[in-house]
Amino acid sequence: MKPAPFAYVRPERLEDAVGVLEERGEGARVLAGGQSLMATLNMRLSAPEVLVDIGRVPGLAGIEATGDGLRIGAMTRHAEVEASELVASRAPLIASAMPHIAHPAVRNRGTFGGSIAFADPAAELPACAVALGARMTITGKGGTRTVEADAFFRGLYETALEPGEVLTAVEVPGIAAGWKSGFMELSRRHGDYAMLGLAAHVEMEDGRFGRGRLVFFGAGERPVSAVRSAALLEGERWSDALGAGLADALREELDPFEDLNADAAMRRHLAGVLARRTLGPLAAAT
Ligand SMILES: Cc1cc2nc3c(=O)[nH]c(=O)nc-3n(C[C@H](O)[C@H](O)[C@H](O)COP(=O)(O)OP(=O)(O)OC[C@H]3O[C@@H](n4cnc5c(N)ncnc54)[C@H](O)[C@@H]3O)c2cc1C
Repeated sequence: MKPAPFAYVRPERLEDAVGVLEERGEGARVLAGGQSLMATLNMRLSAPEVLVDIGRVPGLAGIEATGDGLRIGAMTRHAEVEASELVASRAPLIASAMPHIAHPAVRNRGTFGGSIAFADPAAELPACAVALGARMTITGKGGTRTVEADAFFRGLYETALEPGEVLTAVEVPGIAAGWKSGFMELSRRHGDYAMLGLAAHVEMEDGRFGRGRLVFFGAGERPVSAVRSAALLEGERWSDALGAGLADALREELDPFEDLNADAAMRRHLAGVLARRTLGPLAAAT
């Protein structure tokens, strides 16, 4: 199928992009890497009047160190994030997730900010952002604001972005002493969206777990932080019994959807499998 007719603009300044987006409201859509948007246009799942290509707006791409954290520009391609030594050293959770996002051809065009703004419930990066406590920097006509990842993802493909706003960067805080991360997903084929995945970020001290976040993707309409199950870990050493208790707790706590890939019971079961496979080795490595 071909997309419905649309106008195309490619502003060279952020304020011009915001100006068009503000003026056209719901009729305008940001075009980043186009890897998700073009498919939705071609399938006529959406029919915006105008695409605002932000590819030439300066300052939106690139990765930089900020204190002991990171700033990843929204237009930074997945491939650049994947190859970044700064990301590997300062946000190993994100580095672990990158090879699981689609295939190299998609990662060459798709952008970090595009994945965050698109907010697919089975996508890797929104879950990583929530697990790490990242902050989204958003610019609109009224200026720039910052939204915590947990508040940014609101529902199925729904975020805190208002019409007229552009996600400009994602700020990833530095990793506090003792915090470790682990990432794992299960998909039918490598590069497919995950049936279920886990982005874990936990505190370890003397072989015992402390506070932490276990954030599942493919488990609900947005990244799902299993708060009650994560609390079970506090003060404990890893053991088979802890793994079994955690799997039971996750089965209770998660309320996943079902689709052609897996029903809800299967996803609940896989949550325990992922938690054991991720947290056991993580505890053993400390
Ligand atoms: C075959 C295939 C397999 C894939 N597999 C995976 C996968 O396993 N995991 C995964 O996470 N993704 C996957 N993707 C999606 C891919 O990661 C996309 O790159 C990503 O979802 C969107 O990024 P983009 O830059 O292409 O955004 P676009 O397609 O250009 O835009 C997507 C949406 O986000 C909005 N948007 C984009 N950037 C901004 C911004 N800066 N500010 C405001 N709004 C913005 C757009 O308006 C649009 O609504 C796959 C894609 C393909 C084609």
